[in-house]
Amino acid sequence: MKIIDGKKISEEIKAELKAEVKNCFIKPGLSVIQIGNREDSNKYVSAKQKAALEVGINFNLYHYDETADEREIVNKIKELNNDEYVDGIMIQLPLPDKFNEKKLINLILPSKDVDGLTDRNIGRLVTNKDPLTSCTPLGIIELLKRSEVKIEGKNVVIVGRSNLVGKPLMHLFLNENATVTVCHTKTSDLKKMTLQADILVAAMGNPKFITKDYVKEGAVVIDVGINTINSGLCGDVDFDNVSKKASLITPVPGGVGPMTVTMLLKNTLKSYNLKNSK
Ligand code: NAP
Repeated sequence: MKIIDGKKISEEIKAELKAEVKNCFIKPGLSVIQIGNREDSNKYVSAKQKAALEVGINFNLYHYDETADEREIVNKIKELNNDEYVDGIMIQLPLPDKFNEKKLINLILPSKDVDGLTDRNIGRLVTNKDPLTSCTPLGIIELLKRSEVKIEGKNVVIVGRSNLVGKPLMHLFLNENATVTVCHTKTSDLKKMTLQADILVAAMGNPKFITKDYVKEGAVVIDVGINTINSGLCGDVDFDNVSKKASLITPVPGGVGPMTVTMLLKNTLKSYNLKNSK
């Protein structure tokens, strides 16, 4: 068994991005909108800021109180859409209940939607038109490619069908010519499905749910889960148990997580390059 070192791979990508940004005439810009004060959101936003500054991307945070009026956010998105120095705009999710998440996301110009969550970019993903794509799924494909895992022709099973991870990932794998099965809580025999997987992705939010009984000998196992338990962070895969059977496996932390932030930077540079190639 070999561990896929997401931290190391993401450092390599950041070094490549840094070299590319150095050659940019104007620094690419990333703007993040945060509403409320969730502890996890604060942590994710600081990680994004740190990584952006590390590669030389301008970072601006617009942080609103939960009591903010939705119109204020709408106006800020419109302002950022029209700002030529802003290449990427993202809204830190989840938003407090009173805000209309879907409406706000869809106000972001698709060419600046570095989280790949607008309906327009999702449509382009479904039709394989090289859109800006959701960062975690994009990071998973990049991890596999950089670990020299062949995707074409493989049986891929994804456990989880969220709009953020499972569904976009399904399309990315299809676009790479894999045969994809997506499982969820209504799947009648989960084990039967996962045992078919050459590449198994767990994106469930269920601590250590996937044990070796769910895994085919020699499978590649990607653990997207981030769960807090008494002993700290863990994934959806029972790492110690599954690593005996997997040929390659991502740890938590240090697997998929670091790639998500790095792909946000990559998408920002992609948006910058598209703008400047017009
Ligand atoms: P989510 O929106 O809660 O979706 C979870 C999915 O897993 C749902 O489709 C659900 O099925 C399915 N599921 C849950 N338990 C299951 C079970 N026992 N059997 C079969 N399917 C099951 O979660 P998410 O946003 O996709 O996130 C999933 C995990 O990834 C979380 O731990 C999250 O923290 C983590 N995450 C990590 C990153 C990263 O950067 N590493 C990024 C995003 C998310 P139903 O649809 O039927 O309910």
